[in-house]
Amino acid sequence: MDLNSEEFLGKRILSILVIELISSLRYILFMAYNELDSEEKSVIVGKGTEMPFTGEYDSFYKDGTYVCRRCNNPLFPSKAKFEAGCGWPSFDENFPNAVKRLPDPDGQRIEIECAHCGAHLGHVFEGEKFTDKDTRHCVNSVSIRFIPKEEKLPKILNK
Ligand SMILES: [Zn+2]
Repeated sequence: MDLNSEEFLGKRILSILVIELISSLRYILFMAYNELDSEEKSVIVGKGTEMPFTGEYDSFYKDGTYVCRRCNNPLFPSKAKFEAGCGWPSFDENFPNAVKRLPDPDGQRIEIECAHCGAHLGHVFEGEKFTDKDTRHCVNSVSIRFIPKEEKLPKILNK
């Protein structure tokens, strides 16, 4: 067989393309964001707000880590959670660089997003004197997922 023949080169190119295709499929299948149900989507993508006092983590205090429900990025340690009585999970501190702040279109509040995937989390308020940190991240339960201390954190998803 002539290694410089067009047929051989064609087969080589084809096999490279097939390998590329398989690796991108693997990426899509195994690194894709967690699938969201319609309620999660309306909050995380549509920047909605769940009803107060209804979220699964509103009155929930266990040792562990809260990660982004869409991409698994660790957002808040359970030690930062406190009872604010506002009807939503409240945290006075996030993991470094895990949460992005942006002005809310309402012109008053500051919206918070997952810094990794842009999932809407809720809003952040300062100056309320709830804790020493004087900060309240007011977060929708459906935007986050609790991982107990004894469990390994899930892999962060990229797209
Ligand atoms: Zn995220």
